[in-house]
Amino acid sequence: MTFKNFEIEYDKNILVAYWNTPDRSMNVIDKNVMDELDKLIYHVVEDESVKGCVIASRKKDFSGGADLSLLEESKRQYDKAVAEQGEEAANIWFFEDSSRLSRIYRRIETCGKPFAAAIHGVCLGGSFELALACHHRVMVADKRTKVGLPEVKVGLFPGAGGTTRVSRLMETDQALQFLLKGNPVDANKALKMNLVHEICADIDPVVLAKQWIESKGDAVAPWDKKDFKNPSGKVFSPKGMMVWPAANALYRKETYNNYPGARAILTGVYEGLQVPFDLALKIESRLFANVLRSKEAEAMIRTLFLSKNELDKGARRPEEIPPTSIKKIGVIGAGLMGAGIAYVSAQNGLDVVLLDTTMEKVEAGKESINKLVSKQVSRGKLSEDEKNTLLSRIEGTMYYNSLKDVDLVIEAVFEDRAVKEGVLKTVQEVVGLNTIIASNTSTLPITSLADNVTDAGKFIGIHFFSPVDKMMLVEIIKGEKTNNFAVATALDFVRIIKKTPIVVNDSRGFYANRCVLNYVLEGHLMFAEGVPPAMIENCAKMAGMPVGPLALNDEVGIDLGWKILQATKKDLGSDAVNPKQEEILYWMVESYGRHGKKNGKGFYDYHEDGKKSLWPKLSTMCPNVNSQFFDAEELKNRFLFTQSLEALRTMQEGIVTDQREADVGSIFGFGFPPFTGGTISFVDYIGKDNFIQIANELEKKFGPRFEVPKSLREH
Ligand code: NAD
Repeated sequence: MTFKNFEIEYDKNILVAYWNTPDRSMNVIDKNVMDELDKLIYHVVEDESVKGCVIASRKKDFSGGADLSLLEESKRQYDKAVAEQGEEAANIWFFEDSSRLSRIYRRIETCGKPFAAAIHGVCLGGSFELALACHHRVMVADKRTKVGLPEVKVGLFPGAGGTTRVSRLMETDQALQFLLKGNPVDANKALKMNLVHEICADIDPVVLAKQWIESKGDAVAPWDKKDFKNPSGKVFSPKGMMVWPAANALYRKETYNNYPGARAILTGVYEGLQVPFDLALKIESRLFANVLRSKEAEAMIRTLFLSKNELDKGARRPEEIPPTSIKKIGVIGAGLMGAGIAYVSAQNGLDVVLLDTTMEKVEAGKESINKLVSKQVSRGKLSEDEKNTLLSRIEGTMYYNSLKDVDLVIEAVFEDRAVKEGVLKTVQEVVGLNTIIASNTSTLPITSLADNVTDAGKFIGIHFFSPVDKMMLVEIIKGEKTNNFAVATALDFVRIIKKTPIVVNDSRGFYANRCVLNYVLEGHLMFAEGVPPAMIENCAKMAGMPVGPLALNDEVGIDLGWKILQATKKDLGSDAVNPKQEEILYWMVESYGRHGKKNGKGFYDYHEDGKKSLWPKLSTMCPNVNSQFFDAEELKNRFLFTQSLEALRTMQEGIVTDQREADVGSIFGFGFPPFTGGTISFVDYIGKDNFIQIANELEKKFGPRFEVPKSLREH
């Protein structure tokens, strides 16, 4: 009996299958693995000398789960089958195909011999569903080892028995949280949640798994025993009725019903708990086949998994440049952004020189870093020693000489051209000619800032988003003269700090800010039309945006928006700004001193208890406050179309050159709804003809900002 994916060893009468797919750093489930699992079960059952089986891994992780590109492929095959054999035959084939893994796992569970999973490292998605189908699970208690079902994050849900099994292992509300959030848990938590049976620190989990087979080896799952009861009792019971109405409301609040994967979790658990186990699995498989074919899953797998992974692995890195060696960086400006950049760099092992004009400012920056690190310690994510090591990597200074041996400098000083010019010139005087110099500017063109360094080829934009420790995107901006060495260095740096990069060409607002500013503008214009502020905010969230445009404007500062508008008017003339927006910002900032969250007064009032509520005066400022005049669908469309159209324009202008970057950048940079796949995928999501028709209608009603770019019409 030979396997490609599993190395088989025997310890007396126990078979240990070590999963070790050749030529891959991570075990993943594909058709081959499924075939071999089938074969493995058959062998364990048939061979009388085998008492039971342990499944473990030879790699540093157990497995990352199913190969998502395979799922994408099976959707393509489905479309082909519909075209060739008709919808009914295609549906039958697709159901069989997409439920195969679930059936294999059920065979493990009911084969009559005990199976145990020995888990170390990451064990996620389909591979944790494999472990859940084993009769016993042993898990290593260390920092690396995590189990979880994160499928919901790419638009899917655990459809190989995970939903059905987890809801029978713990109370329903806890199961729903685990499935709907999709966050992995460590061994201690997994044990408390009843997800695993045993945890171990200093002993090989395979040894414990073998001992269990030897000593107990009960080959019947709890739900296959006569006396099994669901941990939360029946769905239709007083207890069940405490859970389900709240769960439904929470689901609506968190997703606005935009995510079929999340909806399937709710349905699968609700319906599944009311029927016998095998029927529940069938319901789960039926839901899975539907979700897998949904346009939301297609869009999310494409952008959040495939495109993101490609960009993370350096899809845009110039191939001819050998890997750079970045060990030490300089950060100028210890304010909000500079401190954040210093923190994520030190967190990932880089030495950092953090420079500001006075030691008080440097210390204030270091203190904000200290707070972030201490939070990690209080959450048990870092030890006191690790905290001290991290902090010791950051050298605070007010002297530029400390920068002389750094590999990369990022300036994050005030957004003032004169200040930045002075800083860049001084930096250039001390650093070597091979050092890449970067700016974190949000608005100033990189090409013109490059005039302040000796070699414009080695100057580049590295644009972070706030808060730096949480936002995963970094926008890399090429000035006209930026060379490939600078691009490669910037990309290598972003990889070290484990963020996702997009590379764009220089223009006012680059990519992300152009789209975001349009989103905020749309909110302002709705307000000017008299749309009630609560309706503006709620429709934006119903469309899938994480925060309403008015709340977002408060977060970044209404005064900043006012400054940007004035600067744009000064540079490009009054036609470049919208007079209605100008009027609103003038009211807010100049007439009422409402600068946003920073002074506790913006479109919202910020209360002492940390809560916020819309400023009551807003409703007296807009001409018309009757929500019935407005069509919620139209408002939702306006929010998404204005961003998507701007993204299409940036592609037409050659600012963004790769659709993957527009999509990934929009979700991770400014929260464009993930279920659409991003600003450009949104066109596919809506359907191109439909997209053009809706945009045309919006253009007729609201003006040229909804005009469809020529590149899309002709595409
Ligand atoms: P900030 O005001 O919090 O910090 C700026 C820091 O620069 C201050 O500590 C200041 O003392 C220091 N500084 C000013 N002049 C200096 C000089 N000559 N030498 C050394 N240090 C000097 O500002 P911030 O929000 O951190 O923004 C910094 C840069 O990042 C700006 O270019 C801004 O446009 C950009 N940015 C900001 C955000 C954001 O959300 N705040 C997002 C992306 C990019």
